[in-house]
Amino acid sequence: MLKVILEGHDKYYGITDIVRMFFGDISEDHEHSCVIAGDGPDMTLVNTLEKDGSSVTFDQAAGKRYSFDGPSLEIGREVKRSLYIALSDITGMKMPWGCLSGIRPTLVASEEGSKEELTKKYLVREDKAALGFETAKEEMRLLEAISPEDLNIYVGVPFCPSRCSYCSFISQDISHHMGRLGEYEAALENEIRTLSPLLNRRVASLYMGGGTPTVFSDEQFSRVLDTIYSSIKIDPDCEVTIEAGRPDTINRNKLEAMRSHGIGRICINPQTMRDETLAKLGRRHTSSDIIRAYDQAKELGFEVINMDLIAGLPFETGDDFVRSVSKLIDIGPGNITIHTLYKKRRAALTKEMVMGRDDSRGDIDAAVREGYRLLYEAGYHPYYLYRQKDTGHGLENTGFAKGDTGCLYNVAMMSDARDVLSFGAGGMSKRCFEQEGTTSKHRVERCPTVKDVLTYISSSEEMARRKSEFFEL
Ligand code: SF4
Repeated sequence: MLKVILEGHDKYYGITDIVRMFFGDISEDHEHSCVIAGDGPDMTLVNTLEKDGSSVTFDQAAGKRYSFDGPSLEIGREVKRSLYIALSDITGMKMPWGCLSGIRPTLVASEEGSKEELTKKYLVREDKAALGFETAKEEMRLLEAISPEDLNIYVGVPFCPSRCSYCSFISQDISHHMGRLGEYEAALENEIRTLSPLLNRRVASLYMGGGTPTVFSDEQFSRVLDTIYSSIKIDPDCEVTIEAGRPDTINRNKLEAMRSHGIGRICINPQTMRDETLAKLGRRHTSSDIIRAYDQAKELGFEVINMDLIAGLPFETGDDFVRSVSKLIDIGPGNITIHTLYKKRRAALTKEMVMGRDDSRGDIDAAVREGYRLLYEAGYHPYYLYRQKDTGHGLENTGFAKGDTGCLYNVAMMSDARDVLSFGAGGMSKRCFEQEGTTSKHRVERCPTVKDVLTYISSSEEMARRKSEFFEL
C-alpha cells in the first residue's frame, strides 16, 4: 500500500490525480493528510510544498528526495510534478502526458506558447507535446468563429437500444427506460418550448447527442427536430450536428428528416470495424451496417460525417485498432475521432481490463501513434483534444478533421471560453466570463440538469426555469 503524505499544502485533487495515473483506485485520508493507493508498493512518500514555492517529494526510508531542477509552477502543478518525478522513478513508468492531469493539455499548450515548454516543464513526451501544441492552435482558430455573445446549444437524449459493455454514460442504464422514451420526448420538447421565447442570442452551434438521439421512432425524431427548428432561431450558418451513433438506429426516414431541415453534419460511430469485437461489446450491428449507413448519409447529401473509434478496447489488439483506422480512412469521412478507452463508473468492464497492460493485446500507445500517423498521411489534422481520468495507458481523445470541417460545438464545449445551453437530462449548461489577472483567462459557472431520466420527465419546466435564471434571460 502506497501512502503519500501532504505537507505544507492541501492539494488533494492534484495529488490523487497523479497517484491514480500510476496505481488506479485511491482514497483520501484528510485526518492524516494523506492519499492512499491500495495497489501501490508498500512505502510512504512525503510530498511537500516548500516556503519558496517549490515542491520536494521524499522517500524517507530510501533516503531519496525528488524535485524538479528548473522554473517552478503554480502550487497545484508544482506539487504534482515532484510527485510524478518520484513515482516515475519508483515504477520505471513515464506517462505520455508527463505530470499534466486534471487540465486540458491544449489549455496549457496555449499558456506556454511552445511544445518545448510542455516537454521541459511538464515532462510531456515529445510527440504528445507536438500534438497538444498543434491542436491548441487549431482550437483557437476554430473558436474565433464563435463570438462570446453567441450561444451553443446541446440537446441530450440519454437512451440507447442496448448497452455497450464499456459504457456508463449516465448513472442509470440507458437502455432500461426505453419504455419511457415517448414521455422523454414530450419533456424535452416542453423544456425547449418553455425556454425558447427568452432566447435572444445568436446560436453558433447546436449538437444533439446522447446516448443515441436516433433511438427515437421516425415520428418522434421528426417531432423533436420540428420543435427545435420552430422554437430556436437557427440561421443558415449555424453548425448543426446530430449524433446518430449506432447504425441500428439509422434509417432513410430519419436521415431525410435531418436533411429536410438542412442538417449537414452527422456522427456514425463504429468504435471498431472488427465484427467480433462489436458482438462481444454488446453492440447489435456489424461493420457492414456502418458502411451501409455511411453510404446512405452520403447519398442524401450530408457534408461532414464523423466516425468514432476507440483504442484499447478489450477483446482486440493494437493491430486490430490500426486496421480499423485504415478502414475508416478508406471510407473517407470528414472527421475521425480517436478515443482511448477509459473506465467510467458502473461500466461492465473491469478497471483491470481498461488500465491493465496486457501484453497479449500489444502496445496500445504505439497503436495510437500509428493510427495518428496514418491519419496525418491521409490528410487529416487534429482539431480538438481532451483527456479523462482513468484513461487507459494515460492517453487522450483526439478529433481529426479533413480541411476546414472541425466541429465548432466540440471546440466550444471543451474550451470553457464559450457559453453552452443544454437541454435534456444530464446536460451541463455553462457560462464563461473573461477574467484578468489569473493564470486562467476564463471563469466558468455551471448549471447541471438533473441526470435521472424519470425525474427529468416530471420536472422539465423546472429545469427550463432554472436555466432561465442561470442565463439571466
Ligand atoms: S452507444 Fe454510446 S452511449 Fe449508447 S450504450 Fe453504447 S457507448 Fe453508451
